[in-house]
Amino acid sequence: MENLLKSFDVIVVGAGTGGSTTARFAAEKGLKVCLIDSKEKKDIGNKICGDAVGSDIFDYLQIKHPRDDELSCKIKGAKLYSPDLKKCIDLTDPKQAGYIVNRIEFGQRLLNDALDAGVEQFMDKTMALDLIYTQNTVSGVKIKLKNGEKAEIHSKILIDASGFYSPLRKKLKSNLVEKEVLKEDTILCYREIVKFSPQDLRINNPDYISIILNREKAPGGYIWYFPKNESSLNIGLGTFMNLKGKVKDLYHQYVFNEFIKTSKYEIISSGGGVVSVRRPLWSCTDNGIMFVGDAACQVNPLHGGGIDPSMRGGFFAANTVVDAIEKGDYSVNSLWNYNYDVMTSFGAEFASLDLLRMTLQILPNEDLNFALQQDLLSGEEILEISSTGEFELPVISLVTKALKGIYNPNLLLDLNYLRIRMNEISKIYKNFPINVENFEEWKRRVIEVYDKIKKMLINAKKVN
Ligand SMILES: Cc1cc2nc3c(=O)[nH]c(=O)nc-3n(C[C@H](O)[C@H](O)[C@H](O)COP(=O)(O)OP(=O)(O)OC[C@H]3O[C@@H](n4cnc5c(N)ncnc54)[C@H](O)[C@@H]3O)c2cc1C
Repeated sequence: MENLLKSFDVIVVGAGTGGSTTARFAAEKGLKVCLIDSKEKKDIGNKICGDAVGSDIFDYLQIKHPRDDELSCKIKGAKLYSPDLKKCIDLTDPKQAGYIVNRIEFGQRLLNDALDAGVEQFMDKTMALDLIYTQNTVSGVKIKLKNGEKAEIHSKILIDASGFYSPLRKKLKSNLVEKEVLKEDTILCYREIVKFSPQDLRINNPDYISIILNREKAPGGYIWYFPKNESSLNIGLGTFMNLKGKVKDLYHQYVFNEFIKTSKYEIISSGGGVVSVRRPLWSCTDNGIMFVGDAACQVNPLHGGGIDPSMRGGFFAANTVVDAIEKGDYSVNSLWNYNYDVMTSFGAEFASLDLLRMTLQILPNEDLNFALQQDLLSGEEILEISSTGEFELPVISLVTKALKGIYNPNLLLDLNYLRIRMNEISKIYKNFPINVENFEEWKRRVIEVYDKIKKMLINAKKVN
């Protein structure tokens, strides 16, 4: 490639929602940024997704909300259904309101915003292959250019925002960052965007996204029914990874056939993907490198939403990069503040929701029906949990729940134990160490809480 620049303050690998946001905020601060993506420019943003994003992130970053071509429709909130569909809990508050986006238009806007902010070199159809190390610090990346040639480009700090499969994380030499994500901490999804005529099919609750919990139809995950506009839907489901060969069959039997009650339809897009449903990586940084978005498991474990946290993570990463470059120190100590920002904000929420996710995954449909129908968790409590990862129960509320749960005391006791552990882990995350020296002790405390929940789940399985 002619005029290939080879040395940058920051190289960002991946121009998805996480990478484009990182590149934008780093470039806005005047850093010399290179952004690369293996896709062709016009395809960036084209991702198999539910396309739902809350409005909060746009206010937080002070950037434009989706509109015009980027916007499929506005959403007032979510409706959560019990497996037997007899109970629907409304989850409506300003935090649940948001958008269904046109994913490619939205992705193109984030990319163009980054380029307009002053990204020095943008390289599409360029694949990151391996890390370059100087002593024990990442100092660049080996790439394959669009013309097939191989090259090396150098950075003070490398940002890996290359998504769930992150080839670079697997090459990392690190005691802090895990290379692999366990299968049990991931969900396999399949979805279609289906178009029809409004005369043939009417959309239920067009202002809401609907989520149906059902352990038999979507084992380990849930079914989603998201309106896009008056004549199209984004519908799909997530399941345990070991159902790889069956996910499409489950989709056709329990999602498509149940919702698309017309023979006149067109499938606009179809496909599957994998999301992590766990706490963020133990550490999202090491010497000379940071991980953002799906590459860092920055995805909400309860609903698999990763657009918001990938953009939030990108913003945090850009802020830390600016400070580190000012100091001229690219070591993990200098980049640690990024971990601090992630873990004390959405990291705390995600660790807590991870415990809830692990518990929900083993609850049979009868328990889910019972818990939702008896309001063992009210809409307000679910909202509080899903927006903060914590919730408190006044004694009076506990007594009321105990009376309702009397026919299923083990479930009630487990849910209360879970609530205590969720609050505990959230507090541990909010006290994330400000330097790497105290990290191992912090990690030990986190593992202790996970072990307690795993023990509870083993006992619950024995009872069931
Ligand atoms: C079926 C499904 C439904 C979902 N629904 C929702 C939803 O409704 N709402 C929500 O918020 N989230 C949803 N998610 C999750 C969400 O899509 C992701 O969390 C989010 O897109 C994360 O963005 P990212 O920038 O980290 O990664 P990505 O969007 O995956 O971007 C990574 C980029 O890196 C590039 N890349 C990869 N490897 C290389 C390489 N070696 N070299 C150079 N470039 C590379 C890719 O081309 C891509 O452009 C869903 C996910 C799936 C699979």
